[in-house]
Amino acid sequence: MKYKAVIGLEVHVELKTNSKMFCSCSADYFGQKPNTHTCPVCLGLPGALPVPNKKAIEWCVQIGLALNCNIPLFSKFDRKNYFYPDLPKGYQISQYDKPFCVNGYLTLTSGKKVGVTRVHMEEDTGKLIHEKVSGENVSLIDFNRSGVPLVEIVTEPDFETAEEVKEYLQKLQQIVRYLGVSNADMEKGNMRLEPNISLRLSNQQSAISNQLPPYKVEVKNINSFAFVSKAIDYEIKRQTEILEKGKTPIQETRGFVEKNSSTVSQRVKEEASDYRYFPEPDIPPLRWTKEQIKNLKSQIPELPDKKTQRFEKNHLLPRTDSIILTREKITADYFEEAVKLGKNHDLTPKQIANFIINRKIDITTTLPAELVKEVLNSSKKEEISDAELKKIIKEILEKNPKVAEDYKAGKTSVIQFVIGQVMYIIRKKIDTEVLRKLIMEELK
Ligand SMILES: [Zn+2]
Repeated sequence: MKYKAVIGLEVHVELKTNSKMFCSCSADYFGQKPNTHTCPVCLGLPGALPVPNKKAIEWCVQIGLALNCNIPLFSKFDRKNYFYPDLPKGYQISQYDKPFCVNGYLTLTSGKKVGVTRVHMEEDTGKLIHEKVSGENVSLIDFNRSGVPLVEIVTEPDFETAEEVKEYLQKLQQIVRYLGVSNADMEKGNMRLEPNISLRLSNQQSAISNQLPPYKVEVKNINSFAFVSKAIDYEIKRQTEILEKGKTPIQETRGFVEKNSSTVSQRVKEEASDYRYFPEPDIPPLRWTKEQIKNLKSQIPELPDKKTQRFEKNHLLPRTDSIILTREKITADYFEEAVKLGKNHDLTPKQIANFIINRKIDITTTLPAELVKEVLNSSKKEEISDAELKKIIKEILEKNPKVAEDYKAGKTSVIQFVIGQVMYIIRKKIDTEVLRKLIMEELK
C-alpha cells in the first residue's frame, strides 16, 4: 500500500443518570412525547441557572479511570458557542482546556495501545425532526434530549485500519456497560461515533513519519460500528484518488450516507477559535481531593480484559471461552456463581462453561443452581460404562437377528436403528460416536 491511514476517533456516550446534566428533568427521554422532559434550564430560558449533576461527573471520571487516564485535581466547564436550532442557549456547556480526564489509553488484543487524549463532560442537544405537516416540509424540535449528560472520549490518531477502530469501539462499549454508566445502545443513539481520517505516504522516513498529514477529514455522527468501518474504507479510497492526482484533500466535515456507504461534504471544518470558548460563569471550577479520586477508582468493578485473563488463569478456561463469558458482565457473574455452586458437586468450571456456551443457556430464566443441576444430570450420561452399553447392545442384537444379517449385506444404516434402540432403553443422552463404535465391534 502506497498510503497509510491515520485515524482518530471521537465518541459520545450518553450517560444513564436519572436526571439531566444541569437540571432535574428526567434524562430518560427515549420514546417519550416530545418536549415533555423540559424546564427553563434545558430550554435555555433567560435567567435559568445550571446545577451540575454529581453522579454524571463521577461517572465521567470513572470512564476516564477505566481508560487509564490521569485525573487532574482542577477542572472546569466552558461554553462552546455556536448557532444551531437544536441548541437552545446558543452555546453548549462543555469542557475546553481543563477536561476531567487526560492522557489515557486502551489496549487492543494485538497489544497495541490506543492513546486516549481526553475524556470530558458535556450536555446533549435537542433533536431536529424533519417532517411533512399539511403537505409542507417542516423542521420540528424536540428538547427532551437537550441537557442529557454526554461524555466525549477523544483518541489520538493512532488507528491505522477500520478493524482496529472497530475493536476499540467494542471494547469501549463493553467498558461503559461494565461500569454501568450507559446502556451504550447504538440504536437508541446512546453512543455516537466520529472518525477523523487522513492519509500519509507509507514509505515516509522515520524522521518525518510521525508527522501528521496537513489535513483531516471528520465524519460526523455515525450510529453503528459497521457504518464507521464503511465510512473509513470509503474515505481511504476517496482520499487516495485525490492524492494520486497530486492534490491534497480539503480539511472538512463530512456526513455518512447509508444507502450507498459513501460520505458527502457538509462543511469546511471549524477551528476551536470559531467556538469562542470561555469559562462557564454560572458553574464554579471543580477541585478534587486525591481521596475522592481514589474512592471513585475503588468503586470500579473488575473490567473485561482483567476478567478474561482471570477466567483463563483461575478457572483454567481457554481464551475463546473466557472471551465469550466475559462479553457481558451479567454472563460472567452468572458463570462464577454457577462455578461456586458446582464445586460442591465436583463440577469443573470448564464443564459449566461448556454448558452455558454450547447449550446457549438463557441466563435470565435459568438460575445458576438450576444450571448446576442440569450439568449434573447431563454428566451422569458418562456414568454408563462401556460394559453396560455392550450388554444392552448384545440384547438388542439378539432380539433383532436381522440387523446383523443386513449389516453383513452392506446395509450400514442399521447401526442408526441400534443407536435409537439403545437410546430408547437408557433414556439418556450419550456420546453417539462411542456408541457407534461399540455397536460396530459387536456386529463384527
Ligand atoms: Zn430541564
